[in-house]
Amino acid sequence: MYIVQIASECAPVIKAGGLGDVVYGLSRELEARGHCVELILPKYDCMRYDHIWGLHDAYRDLWVPWYDGEIHCSVYCGWVHGRVCFFIEPHSQDNFFNRGCYYGCEDDTMRFAFFSKAALQFLQHSNKRPDVIHCHDWQTGLVPVMLYEIFQYHGMGSQRVCYTIHNFKHQGFAGNELLAATGLNRPDHYFHYDRLRDNFNPFSLNLMKGGIVYSNAVTTVSPHHAWEASHTEVGCGLGHTLHLHQGKFSGILNGIDHDFWNPAGDRYIPYHYSREDFEEKHKNTKTLRERLMLDHADKPIIAYIGRLDGQKGVHLVHHAMYYALHRGAQFVLLGSATEPGINAHFWHEKHFLNNNPDVHLELGFNEELSHLIYAGADMIVVPSNFEPCGLTQMIGLMYGTVPIVRGVGGLVNTVFDRDYDQTKPPEERNGYVFYQSDYQALESAMDRAIGLWFEYPEEFRQLALQGMSYDYSWKHPAQAYIDLYDQIRCQ
Ligand code: ADP
Repeated sequence: MYIVQIASECAPVIKAGGLGDVVYGLSRELEARGHCVELILPKYDCMRYDHIWGLHDAYRDLWVPWYDGEIHCSVYCGWVHGRVCFFIEPHSQDNFFNRGCYYGCEDDTMRFAFFSKAALQFLQHSNKRPDVIHCHDWQTGLVPVMLYEIFQYHGMGSQRVCYTIHNFKHQGFAGNELLAATGLNRPDHYFHYDRLRDNFNPFSLNLMKGGIVYSNAVTTVSPHHAWEASHTEVGCGLGHTLHLHQGKFSGILNGIDHDFWNPAGDRYIPYHYSREDFEEKHKNTKTLRERLMLDHADKPIIAYIGRLDGQKGVHLVHHAMYYALHRGAQFVLLGSATEPGINAHFWHEKHFLNNNPDVHLELGFNEELSHLIYAGADMIVVPSNFEPCGLTQMIGLMYGTVPIVRGVGGLVNTVFDRDYDQTKPPEERNGYVFYQSDYQALESAMDRAIGLWFEYPEEFRQLALQGMSYDYSWKHPAQAYIDLYDQIRCQ
């Protein structure tokens, strides 16, 4: 099968979060199974060019209609750890992708609407006719819309679209100008509740809704989150739309890339280990303590790795840090906040705790350090408010780092409480789960985990080993996507 992924991220060259990991990991596994996969990405000025091999211009004269004129683009081609990627660079005063950031600009909707149109235009002009176009999140929600409404009349009538939603919270809103810019025009047609009109703001078009309505298949990143999105407020206003399109909506759990995330061969950790030589993990713990200047004490290290924002339950992250200290554990936090208030708060905490030898806050994005933390920590806490899939608990499991998670979204599908889970026998349980989003619930789960570490170290070790025996690689999810692609190809 010939598959083209159109996305705003691909790890490690462009990574703001889990989306990048998923786009890369899925593509790699699909290729390993003999499918032909190509990726189309924006050419950001700030991406990690050191991860691209053989970057060259592949297509110089791409003209993309935009408002009443056209924007000239160059398309570059290069290999990102073996994956063929095309990077689109527009030459216009808008400077869409030369902003020193991936997201967070006022005109984000227009930037990615342009990217979506340019990606399709590139496919059309270069005579690429994939069986399936797989696009992701609101940034590429217009791809199926424009494919159906414009490009199918220009030789692209047999392409099918799979659309994956990684986060319902960001949906991409726009007004009339989007229709004028992209050439979709016809406001009366698109401002219809059956198409792109937002379910709550009648003056707004919703790009993610467009993706749902126009795609052949829609997925989100875990089965439990698919249920939540359709039945609870987690769908952020799109529950009704999902209900109308329920026949083509499903949840497929993300995988993690075992080549990149694997304690037996991880290029960023000093001591490799597996279930068979688990003791080696503790040497990484020693290195982690040295690197972060933590006390070499007989205490567990609890870690948090992730964005610091409302979705991630930032108040509980903060509480987990102080509660860990209170219970005689150490705490390591690696995170970045985009919201100035949250950022300032954690910088304040960092200064306040600066001389405490049992805690370290690393504020910013640091891929290399994250690997050492996964390998060196004993537990990882994930107290999210909502979590479509969550990769950090799966990576934690892989590294024998016991997850303590809130039972939402994909966390429900991946972590099974050691003491209370009803679905798995004791020898298959792998962590701790709490449900309420409050201090008490978090504390009781942390108490159980820390208590086991101090009082029953052999049982704690056994729990970590049980976590390591889970296979959350791309093996099963990739097969589920292939089955789905096959299904929509026959439509
Ligand atoms: P998100 O909601 O951000 O996509 P996920 O749990 O799905 O959350 O994926 C987060 C990914 O980003 C993981 O690979 C995690 O290790 C990584 N990550 C998050 N924050 C940081 C950081 N500050 N430094 C390094 N890696 C990070």
